[in-house]
Amino acid sequence: MTSLPPISRFAPSPTGRMHLGNVFCALLSWLSAKSRGGAWRLRIEDLDPDRSRRDFALQLMDDLQWLGLPWDGEVVWQSQRGDIYEHYLKQLQDMGLTYPCFCTRADIMATQAPHETDGRIVYAGTCRGKKLDEMAQNTPYATRFMVPDEVIAFQDGHYGPQQVNLAKHCGDYILRRRDGAWAYQLAVVVDDALMGITEVVRGRDLLLSTPQQLHLYRTLGFPEPHYIHHPLLVNENGQRLCKRDKSLDLSYLREKHKNPDEIVGFLAFLAGILPASTPINPKDLLPLFDWQKVPKTDITASL
Ligand code: GLU
Repeated sequence: MTSLPPISRFAPSPTGRMHLGNVFCALLSWLSAKSRGGAWRLRIEDLDPDRSRRDFALQLMDDLQWLGLPWDGEVVWQSQRGDIYEHYLKQLQDMGLTYPCFCTRADIMATQAPHETDGRIVYAGTCRGKKLDEMAQNTPYATRFMVPDEVIAFQDGHYGPQQVNLAKHCGDYILRRRDGAWAYQLAVVVDDALMGITEVVRGRDLLLSTPQQLHLYRTLGFPEPHYIHHPLLVNENGQRLCKRDKSLDLSYLREKHKNPDEIVGFLAFLAGILPASTPINPKDLLPLFDWQKVPKTDITASL
């Protein structure tokens, strides 16, 4: 782990009201950065034009302030950074590392078997080698990044050494969608690099995205951040919390628990930082924070 104070970030997608799982991520990344004198930046990942909403983003910012988790510097909005993504996509295209993909979702579902371990679809490279000829220019296409048959290894700050074969477990992935929207993998790498992020704290559901992102970092010649993934909060059925679990979303919780310190204390208890769920301000957790206390297995949350 770097000894310089980290520059960390929270990068929510404003597609609904924050739920307890998002707040858990925000709290852990804030504590990890601030307990070592670092900075904590906010980036709104509003790339998906169909699902992102400005009012959700504004609400989310209000929720973070209410919880006592202030961010440093200007908020970065991904929807305003298309020109920057275009620049880096062009760089990858000039390196001959991308290709147009004409497959529809249905084509992909029909031809590829779900990944044996987690049900994801690994794209088989059907369109590899295709070029944009006259005719194809009138057909919508996604732009994919060609990944090598190579193992990417990295040291996760919480889950330890990781090794993933890109071709086998991830496949060629999308940089720009067929509707023109920028894909998460490209935007996250470009933004983390240009924002000078040195520490990425996020849920372990993104553990497998990390080698894909590291490969992009290496290809574009950016310095790599340190990654720390945290366990997920799950409901009583063992399912990851999501925006549909209304009883755990912040509009409901703010109504029910007028005091944000109750929510922070509950999350700190789940994270192993407090012995019991007692109200506390995030600042008062700083001297108590230690990644060693945080469990590795997913945590059942019910309020
Ligand atoms: N925007 C992503 C999400 O809300 C997080 C991405 C990241 O932290 O890298 O799940």
